[in-house]
Amino acid sequence: MGKSVAGGDHFQRMNYLYELATWQTLVLGKHDPGQAMARANVACMDRVGKKTRSRILPQLKRTCCKKCHRVLVPLRTVESSLKEGVLQWNCRCGESKKFPIGSDRSFKTYGERGNLD
Ligand SMILES: [Zn+2]
Repeated sequence: MGKSVAGGDHFQRMNYLYELATWQTLVLGKHDPGQAMARANVACMDRVGKKTRSRILPQLKRTCCKKCHRVLVPLRTVESSLKEGVLQWNCRCGESKKFPIGSDRSFKTYGERGNLD
């Protein structure tokens, strides 16, 4: 038997851990306010990524708190606010993430701007 192929196993493992953590946050969250199990799985995903030098998919990374490893779910584990085109998520641990929505909007109108040239 050869070595595992091109890191695919690691990605599958990380995806699985993320999905498990999301499920635990959504379903078990009510009985586990500290999200201990979900956080353990996200931390584990992080370790797999570091150990195998696999990049965690941006969409996964974006929805995990890098400080406390919670899965960030609006209304469940994060408070979200929108101010001046910037969406901000405040995690329960105090960490915050900012998403500039404004740049996305300008990206959508890129075609229109192209017509002006
Ligand atoms: Zn946090």
